[in-house]
Amino acid sequence: MIDLKTQYHHLKESIDNRIQTVLNHGQFILGPEVFELEEHLAEYVGVKHAITCANGTDALQLCLMALGIKPGDAVFCPTFTFVATAEAISLVGAKPVFVDSDLSTYNICTIDLEKKISSILSKNQLVPKAIIAVDLFGLPANYPELQKVADKYSLNLIEDAAQSFGGVIDSHYAGSFGDLATTSFFPAKPLGCYGDGGAVFTDNDEYAHSIKSLRVHGKGKDKYDNIRIGMNSRLDTIQAAILLEKLKVFPQELKNRNIVAEVYTSRLKDKYLTPHTPDGYKSSWAQYTLQDANRDEVMSKLESHNIPSMVYYKNCLHQQPVFIDMKLQGGNFHIAKQLTKQVFSLPIHPYISSSQQDNITQLLIDL
Ligand SMILES: *Cc1c(COP(=O)(O)O)cnc(C)c1O
Repeated sequence: MIDLKTQYHHLKESIDNRIQTVLNHGQFILGPEVFELEEHLAEYVGVKHAITCANGTDALQLCLMALGIKPGDAVFCPTFTFVATAEAISLVGAKPVFVDSDLSTYNICTIDLEKKISSILSKNQLVPKAIIAVDLFGLPANYPELQKVADKYSLNLIEDAAQSFGGVIDSHYAGSFGDLATTSFFPAKPLGCYGDGGAVFTDNDEYAHSIKSLRVHGKGKDKYDNIRIGMNSRLDTIQAAILLEKLKVFPQELKNRNIVAEVYTSRLKDKYLTPHTPDGYKSSWAQYTLQDANRDEVMSKLESHNIPSMVYYKNCLHQQPVFIDMKLQGGNFHIAKQLTKQVFSLPIHPYISSSQQDNITQLLIDL
């Protein structure tokens, strides 16, 4: 789906050199590359603080800890997302309250969100505290609308930008929305390293200060001065070194991804429900995801020609065994369930050749 080997082939010399520099200086934890990367990330995203950590799941947990989210609190998130979004909520002892999706953008439905907030308020058992919106497949969620809902109910808003680094709404980059935002550098994400990695973004000095402490065992002056319960969640210096080189080519890679997405959409839109990008929005195309009622047939045809395709996601989170017992989960999640039955994703990456694109689209058209 994502050709990491070809990318490495293109960047081999610069990445190898950067790694060698780290091996030479030997500061493997919080070395100079980590802070250099954080500066570049903050500049790219357009926020005051970028704080790297061990992975995108920890990034979410660090945000929830910085906000003081605790048992008895409700945090709203989409049911159609990767499990980590809700897992982080459970890890701090709060309850995830699932919300249905929007059929055309695949992102959290703001109308259902308000319904779920009202329902939690009327039951009077949990305290609504925050919303985690996800920029699914690379497309930023509807933050202008989400911020209004968050303000109306005095909730914190967190952007899970694990899939959307490089995405845009009206010249504002993914990672800059809400009170805090997170991303992941898992190898298959738009900006990936060669292992696990993640980051938190915020303009808020107080949250940034807490997160820098939380990622090093709740340190005060240093890690032997412990003022809160924290985590051990740092980005390895070697991973930061790799990301510094990858970030340099990222703008060009993003352009290439967008070109591939345009080719797919222009050729496939008459036959399939192609992804919708609202006016003023840009996706980072972590996935190129179509909908079709005969998805399984289409995917097996692709497979018979050795073309990979994947379903993200076959199940909603409210249907997963780990969350199914939660008696809170009222509602029908009509749209999210329909999405789990119809979506499938095509290979997309910056180095996909035009003959590969021709091959894929021709097969899909001939079906
Ligand atoms: C990948 C992902 C995460 C978690 O990131 P990791 O680095 O794998 O921990 C969180 N949320 C979403 C939506 C993701 O796709």
